[in-house]
Amino acid sequence: MKVCVVGTGYVGLVVGTCLSESGNDVICVDKDKRKIDPLKRAVSPIYEPGLTELLQRNIREGRLRFSTNLGASVKISDVVFICVGTPVNSDRTPDLRQVEKVAAEVAKAMEHYTVIVLKSTVPVGTARKVKKIVSRITDCEFAVVSNPEFLKEGAAVDDFMKPDRVIVATDDRRAAEIMRELYAPFLRTNKPFIEMNHESAELTKYAANALLATKISFMNEIANLCERVGADVNEVRYGVGTDPRIGSHFLFPGVGYGGSCLPKDADTLIHTAKKHNCQLKIVSCAREVNSQQKRLLVKKMVSHFGGKIRGKRVAIWGLSFKPRTDDIREAPAIVVIEELLKRGAKICAYDPAATENAEHLFGKRVRFTQTNYDALKGAHCLMILTEWNEFRNPSFERMRAVMKSPVIFDGRNTLDRKTVESLGFTYYAIGC
Ligand code: NAD
Repeated sequence: MKVCVVGTGYVGLVVGTCLSESGNDVICVDKDKRKIDPLKRAVSPIYEPGLTELLQRNIREGRLRFSTNLGASVKISDVVFICVGTPVNSDRTPDLRQVEKVAAEVAKAMEHYTVIVLKSTVPVGTARKVKKIVSRITDCEFAVVSNPEFLKEGAAVDDFMKPDRVIVATDDRRAAEIMRELYAPFLRTNKPFIEMNHESAELTKYAANALLATKISFMNEIANLCERVGADVNEVRYGVGTDPRIGSHFLFPGVGYGGSCLPKDADTLIHTAKKHNCQLKIVSCAREVNSQQKRLLVKKMVSHFGGKIRGKRVAIWGLSFKPRTDDIREAPAIVVIEELLKRGAKICAYDPAATENAEHLFGKRVRFTQTNYDALKGAHCLMILTEWNEFRNPSFERMRAVMKSPVIFDGRNTLDRKTVESLGFTYYAIGC
């Protein structure tokens, strides 16, 4: 099948590459030349495990191409995936301008029956709106499909290749069959291809992310209570998560959720509910709890140093919002670092993949190092903000030797309290 993917960000690049891997003829389009130029040389502008190998193979075998020319790419395609961003405005209301603009450009360019797939996460009503935008511009036959994406950054290739489910909504039978055919290679383990109406498909994506956000915030509140009553959240988590009605995923306490999806999708869901005179109190609370949780480690630090933060050197391990990605959008590290800078602390940070993105954001206000041990030189304390595997078993002797004072604030419960305390560190974690 001839497929065009518009937007080569974290979603579009994975979607396009994986669809070419299953034999389709794919052209990925982005308006950003700084992304397309390296991609033409099989260099990925993002860090995503397993992606580069797939990129190289499919480019080499001629199934995957890149372009900044949307019109020309749409003309030669049967299916167009819209994977552009759907951010929120400064007042946290959804901003759909990218989707609407691309829909209009696709409509202007297409010359034959085209299936337009909304892969971006879009609020309820967007598919019907896009249908109107396109039909106002073209006489060409077309179908609009809602097809929300559930991949997780850090495991995106695997998630797309082996999805738990594929959700598709369309009023057009021909388009539904085309989608079934496109996804068949990825659903060979009998995972469901679920058809529903546009509104349900759009809402499913938001409900899923809001529930995940709620699970995290709930467990963070329980962790904070654990600290007050002498319980250990790891034990509580294990005890709770072994109940199959609850499940063990997304119960890890920490410094809050971030990323480009959970925070903005919770905002958009709340906005949608308000627009329809409906309240979503639980999601609103999950959001509020998360905002407080991002500040928890700074509070612990302020209390440890008796309020004297000015001039303290803080080493930060982990900047990305989660491991195995370079994405720092809405990462807890941003809130923590801004709070510390405001209080006059000096920050030295290390991340295995996200340093370049963090440098763009913080510039010279933060010093970045090549190794995690370099960040510790002269530090009054260490804060661990992302649970990268390489932080789990460090050389504590090496750490002690370079730190000014051996204090660790572990925002992801990556270390073992007994071990670190026996080596003379003062150790703070979340809920244990
Ligand atoms: P992103 O910001 O990484 O990528 C979006 C890309 O679209 C950018 O490269 C941008 O240059 C490009 N773009 C914008 N306007 C364009 C235009 N007119 N023409 C061509 N290209 C254009 O965003 P992302 O993280 O890939 O997310 C995309 C969508 O997928 C969002 O709606 C998001 O909510 C949803 N989603 C994201 C994830 C995730 O983990 N990142 C998971 C599921 C769903």
